[in-house]
Amino acid sequence: MTRQMKKIFEKLSHQKELLDNIISSIQEGLLLIDKKGVILLTNDSFRKISESQNIENKHYREVLVGIEFDDLINNVITRKKNLVREILLNNKTFLCSATFLHKNEEVVLLFHDITELKNIEKIKKDFVTNVSHELRTPLTAIKGFAETLEDEVDEKCRHYVDIIKINTDRLVRIVQDLLILSELEEKDTRLELENLNIVELIESVAKLFEEKIMAKKLNLKLNINKNTPTLRADSFKLEQLLINLIDNAVKYTETGEIKISVRQKGKYIILEIRDTGIGIPKKYLSRIFERFFVVDKSHSRKLGGTGLGLSIVKHIVQLHNGQINVKSASGAGSKFTVNLPIKPR
Ligand code: ADP
Repeated sequence: MTRQMKKIFEKLSHQKELLDNIISSIQEGLLLIDKKGVILLTNDSFRKISESQNIENKHYREVLVGIEFDDLINNVITRKKNLVREILLNNKTFLCSATFLHKNEEVVLLFHDITELKNIEKIKKDFVTNVSHELRTPLTAIKGFAETLEDEVDEKCRHYVDIIKINTDRLVRIVQDLLILSELEEKDTRLELENLNIVELIESVAKLFEEKIMAKKLNLKLNINKNTPTLRADSFKLEQLLINLIDNAVKYTETGEIKISVRQKGKYIILEIRDTGIGIPKKYLSRIFERFFVVDKSHSRKLGGTGLGLSIVKHIVQLHNGQINVKSASGAGSKFTVNLPIKPR
């Protein structure tokens, strides 16, 4: 029996040693806390990340200061769900994944350092913003002189001037959209929230398209519930969202109708823009919100598209804590649904 006990102890201590070695060799910072927030276990990487020693048995708040940690840990414990968040700690950015262990009601936190990635992302974004700014002035000059030239040249050369003008306009649109996108992507983009009457906004934006809709002999139907409550939103950005969605509906529809509807559903306003146009092939639906993604390059270009409109729309929706969905199929029209909280957090 003594021999057997000795064997079991040896096996157990070997297993513990193995586990300790694995935990301390993990590159990510690791932290195990109980449901009261007391630290039960940690590894070397976490001690380095948090710049603190001897932290076992302390409360996590003595080591991790910040409302984001409290929010993450509380959410995981109360909802008993796993969550992943980007969190700043000691001037570094971490992807922090929190896993709920149902058996002992404990939480495992893993800290993956993504500072380098974030820096590269920022350099890329800054580059796009700077290039767009730098291009704006020379483009305005080219556009101005092309317009002056138009009146001076003969019939044969006017054709070339027209091509310069069309392409300059396209470049101006791309630069404008890129600047809007980079502004929306700025970390501290703020919404100018006000009490917004979405019904009035839809009616006024729809008016801007009356001429284009008539020229294409399309039908515009507004299915608006006048009792839709006002919502806290940024009216300038929502106007931009509506313009982009309605403009697409008009651009990609040759016959039939465009239907805009708005209604309340619980704490949300549901906005729908539906058309009977060319639709979007199912295989592309997951990609249309990507920058510069267009289904048919030459078609989009001919219609003056930049491939940035829907990325802008998606950013605006996300800034308002809303969601956007699309239903469409090739040749079967498209339906864009935007859910906006009446009061964004
Ligand atoms: P674009 O400036 O080219 O219109 P968007 O970002 O607004 O760029 O849209 C991306 C692509 O999604 C478009 O090029 C088009 O292929 C497709 N798309 C967007 N809206 C519609 C629509 N209502 N009907 C059909 N296709 C659409």
